[in-house]
Amino acid sequence: MNQLETGILYIVPTPIGNLLDITYRALEILKNVDLIAAENIRHTNILLQNFNIKNHLILMNKDNEKKQSDNLIQKLKRGEKIALVSNAGTPIINDPGNILIQKCYFFNIKIIPLPGPCAAITALSASGINNNRFCYEGFLPSKKKTRCNLLFSLKEETRTMIFYESKYRILQSIEDIIEQIGKNRHIVIAREITKKWESIYGANAILILEWLKQDKYRYKGEMVIIVEGFKKSKKNNLSKKILDTFLILRNFLSLKQSVLITSKIHQISKNNLYQHVIKKKCDKTI
Ligand code: SAM
Repeated sequence: MNQLETGILYIVPTPIGNLLDITYRALEILKNVDLIAAENIRHTNILLQNFNIKNHLILMNKDNEKKQSDNLIQKLKRGEKIALVSNAGTPIINDPGNILIQKCYFFNIKIIPLPGPCAAITALSASGINNNRFCYEGFLPSKKKTRCNLLFSLKEETRTMIFYESKYRILQSIEDIIEQIGKNRHIVIAREITKKWESIYGANAILILEWLKQDKYRYKGEMVIIVEGFKKSKKNNLSKKILDTFLILRNFLSLKQSVLITSKIHQISKNNLYQHVIKKKCDKTI
């Protein structure tokens, strides 16, 4: 490779389970670059050995990314070609590498991303849930309060939501989704995609929880949760029962509190209820 040119940073996705999912182009680049920056040397060595590739590896993980990216920038400035790989899937997507990318922009170093495996997109493609508009939320926060606050803020998110999750927290996360977003929301769990025990299962939140609790093998391994977005109902479906709850509460509480608690009890949109109350003049203060 011409050392006088500025180097190139290749972003190289690797399989999320099935090694056959590596692309010809990824193999070609891993073979020909001067250096591979890997999240885990041992892990990437297994991949390289499988394809008879011998190349230099350097560790770049979340602990040393800041320092190591300065080192890699020096090499790129000297004209070296470097491939960035993570343990699985597309680097940067919930993986280290973004500090290096930002530095490449700063120093005007060329970046070439390759398309390839990504758990979020693979799960979404098989979910059957509307995917015209979606948002990727990564891992849900580990602290319950932060997780619940985030989920509550997503209650009326109309786009399909994608979360990464671990076997340790899946049951709690689904319970929190039921509590904060609603028991009827359609959810798909895509587990161990491309691997031997791959499974994709969809149902509403409450049934998903029951299904998971029936067998611990249903939440073993790696998984992606896809949650259907909030659907604004076209017709006003506020039943008598909902309005009765509101009116009873309103005898004791403020308008705002009554709307909020009624919407929580019946798992309905508080804005919808508020608009209805105002429009139909159901409240004593209107
Ligand atoms: N960069 C990766 C990508 O492109 O998908 C994601 C890395 S993130 C650290 C790892 C998480 O991705 C796992 O905890 C799991 O939520 C999801 N994941 C990775 N491989 C998976 C698989 N084969 N099946 C389901 N989910 C997977």
